[in-house]
Amino acid sequence: MKHWPIYIILLLLISACTHIRTLLQHTERGKYESSFPRNDSLFGLWKASHERAMADPLQIELPYLATIQIGHPDASAIVYAVSVKQGQQLVAELKRPSDGVGFLLEFFNSNTTPSKKLLAELSSASSTVEWSAHDDDSVRISLQPLLNDSAVYHVKIYTQPAYHFPVIGKDNGAIQSFWGADRDGGARRHEGIDIFAARGTPVLAVSDGRIDFAGERGTLGGKQIWLSENKLGFRVYYAHLDSTAVHSGRQVLRGDTVGFVGNTGNAAGGPPHLHFGVYGRGGAVDPLNFVKKFAIPTDWEYDTLQPKALTERMLLRAGPGTSYPTRLQLDKGEPVKLLAQTGKWLHVVARDTIAGFVRR
Ligand SMILES: [Zn+2]
Repeated sequence: MKHWPIYIILLLLISACTHIRTLLQHTERGKYESSFPRNDSLFGLWKASHERAMADPLQIELPYLATIQIGHPDASAIVYAVSVKQGQQLVAELKRPSDGVGFLLEFFNSNTTPSKKLLAELSSASSTVEWSAHDDDSVRISLQPLLNDSAVYHVKIYTQPAYHFPVIGKDNGAIQSFWGADRDGGARRHEGIDIFAARGTPVLAVSDGRIDFAGERGTLGGKQIWLSENKLGFRVYYAHLDSTAVHSGRQVLRGDTVGFVGNTGNAAGGPPHLHFGVYGRGGAVDPLNFVKKFAIPTDWEYDTLQPKALTERMLLRAGPGTSYPTRLQLDKGEPVKLLAQTGKWLHVVARDTIAGFVRR
């Protein structure tokens, strides 16, 4: 038995593979893949197209609206890389046509294939998928219809804050002092944001969680609340409250009233406002992206796509704009596979494998 270490390694590898397969079978992609025989050639193309696009994602800016029509049987995948800031929630909405066969919409982390991780996926019963960022991150968004689907899909991708806005009836305009501003004549920095509102305005739980502390403490914050939130795992600090509405230890739901705006602590004598802070393991972080609202696009991209042959020489770019790097110079008359359209740009695949954007 002098080879026993090898047997142990083999055993570990076999159990690891079985484990990964079991995990994948619980995903929409895993369920779909397990319905095909391994040697089905069209299925092989479909799968390879997802892996190729994942390895070489295109870049987009958010918000992003697109019409997706993949009118060829192998149903090529579209993968976009986007950056999401700490405290933001990435959202993708899909409009399904009544004649659609099915569509996979997945968020993956930015690691390369062996350690890629599914962050969130669209379930077949839903039209929206969401994921919130604990740190600044890059996410790959994969969009792929099932085989033999020739329907037209519409997609919207955008970010919104991961938290509920902490003061009722207020939004971005009420935030009037930001992270890092001087305090005490430059002796310290502002470790939060200030949201101004009339005394007594309700202050809300930004997420589901547990109240760690509610009461008066120290000389700075006055009447304050500490909430351990369940969504991203941060501790949220509300200070200068006129009064608190919850007790320590209580579980709260997103949107519950936890207190009321005031000017206690070192805000005494000044205009009532909420000092709002977010704390992670390494201390305070800038809370702005957790609560700052963005306009959510209300329209959809609607044009019907037309098969494309290039009428002139064109540049294939890495994103939908002239500022993105060029991937290829395409020849006049060169056929390209059309996958999607966003504004004045078409997402195409040239020479069988190279994806990019060309101007309409
Ligand atoms: Zn403050």
